[in-house]
Amino acid sequence: MIFENTLAFAQNLDLQDPLAKYKNEFIFPQHQGKDVIYFTGNSLGLQPKRTKQFIDDVMNDWANMAVEGHFYAEKPWWDYHERFAAPLSKIVGAKPSEVTVMNTLTVNLHLMMVSFYRPTKSRYKIICEEKAFPSDQYMFQSHVHAHGLDPKEVIVEVKKREGEHTLRLEDILQTITNVGDELALVLIGGVNYYTGQVFDIEKITKAGHAAGAKVGWDLAHAAGNIEMNLHDWQVDFACWCSYKYMNSGPGNASGCFIHEKHHADKDLPRFAGWWGHNKERRFKMEPNFDPVQGADGWQISNLPILSLAPYLAAITIFDEVGMEKIIEKRNIITAYLDFILRTINTEVNGSFEIITPSNPSERASQISVFLHGEGRPLFDYLMTNGVITDWREPNVIRLAPVPLYCSFEDMYHFGQILKKGIQRN
Ligand SMILES: *Cc1c(COP(=O)(O)O)cnc(C)c1O
Repeated sequence: MIFENTLAFAQNLDLQDPLAKYKNEFIFPQHQGKDVIYFTGNSLGLQPKRTKQFIDDVMNDWANMAVEGHFYAEKPWWDYHERFAAPLSKIVGAKPSEVTVMNTLTVNLHLMMVSFYRPTKSRYKIICEEKAFPSDQYMFQSHVHAHGLDPKEVIVEVKKREGEHTLRLEDILQTITNVGDELALVLIGGVNYYTGQVFDIEKITKAGHAAGAKVGWDLAHAAGNIEMNLHDWQVDFACWCSYKYMNSGPGNASGCFIHEKHHADKDLPRFAGWWGHNKERRFKMEPNFDPVQGADGWQISNLPILSLAPYLAAITIFDEVGMEKIIEKRNIITAYLDFILRTINTEVNGSFEIITPSNPSERASQISVFLHGEGRPLFDYLMTNGVITDWREPNVIRLAPVPLYCSFEDMYHFGQILKKGIQRN
């Protein structure tokens, strides 16, 4: 498609957008009486209007039934989490039995490490990406320490090449080959949080398995953003948070995928709790743990229903729309934002640089921009002009044109404000 950087062109794209009506499903912070232009759905998604009702329902059931709500609420609490399996499995490309909701992201990564990072004398290394999200780095280090090993000898980071902003697939695959027989686990973010680079989950998983390792994924920036087939790709495990692209609310519950091939193995080490115990016998209070066959077998505690309610509300939207349509719009709106950025950049003499891959197969709903001129003050200028972006040291702003609630007109107005901001000095 040939784009134009004009209001009329942007408005015409909105007219043709089958998802345009979903903007009205979300609540926007206000700036001078108007909705802000919201680019930080990769950090905290907006609140869907339908969410409040889901929370109110739980509050009402609690008020009216108290303990009886566990079994007699309209959506009983004792198996409330099971309502997520079917819709979430469609979002990540899994079987319902492979998906569950529990805890928070880093906690679930810890639980998965207990089951799937089993170092031996000869096979103990972990491959991850350079500058992984800090929580993931701390998580790796703490497991390595817990096994009495030295992180310097265990953790192998795949690095960017000199002068490049993103990782090359060939370098990841080569590192896997090089570590070879010593490789115990590959664990990478499916979409890099800083650059927005999308990794080839299928190829990397295959390579990890060929080396005899387990392969897991941190899907914080991938879930609800990219198409995945975790089951077919034979991914061993994956975890994601729900408050970014999935709009479940601040700090909310995490989703977890564990491939079917691991379900029957009751001897797989895991940290157990009563909610992972045989469903029919859970309330018999037996002494010996008998895990549910499926991802639910990794559950620990009875679930925080008030936290699951907004997550459930949010995924009803995904269920209505479907990932296919979301991805279709994502591709166009990201390309349009990319076009607007490049157009503005030529008008301001190249004062910034896009560090997200321009190849559509390597990017999703994020464009990261490295500012060559002023950084923080420009970010502040955008903020005070109703554009919410995300600031990352040393000089990067991240922009997520989330397909469910960003419009093409938003992209156009953003471009105008950005240009003014750069030219104001
Ligand atoms: C957002 C994010 C996290 C956050 O972890 P929490 O446990 O939910 O606080 C972890 N890893 C990555 C890659 C992220 O992008």
